Amino acid sequence: MARKGIDVYTAIWRMPVVEWRYTVASAEHRVKVREYHHGPGRRAFAKHLAAHFEKELRDLGVPDDQITIMREEGLGPENFNIHHKVPVHAFGTNDFSNLILMPADLHSLVHQTIDEQGVCLMKTGETRLIQLPMPEGMVWNPACSQAPKPKPDFPVPVPPIPE
Ligand SMILES: [Zn+2]
Repeated sequence: MARKGIDVYTAIWRMPVVEWRYTVASAEHRVKVREYHHGPGRRAFAKHLAAHFEKELRDLGVPDDQITIMREEGLGPENFNIHHKVPVHAFGTNDFSNLILMPADLHSLVHQTIDEQGVCLMKTGETRLIQLPMPEGMVWNPACSQAPKPKPDFPVPVPPIPE
């Protein structure tokens, strides 16, 4: 079921959502991009983050020893995933600008949000407008996002007046 932007925005705290013309890429593109990502691609990105985003990684709670492993071996930190902002399934690439590190639980929520809109049922070349979560930067930290907090779904109860 398609969800309106505000519902998605509320589900994924502080993550911007954009209306995206989602076109399913060819199997050739998907295989090529994923193969590179699972080989040298994500190692290069992990090293890039350790070299240029050390403060952001610390702010996110990545321990120093894991940052060292990222820098030296190109292995991502435990409980974090590298996400393609524009999905590989929709012509996303391995450009660093299309990649972002985020907590694994939040990553699952992002994919759930996309999958719920039925993109897996679309055929190669098919296009549809979807609400796509679009985090900014290369390290996603919800606590440091500049986006405003979503409004609460329910009115805040007024406390009783003391007698
Ligand atoms: Zn992802």
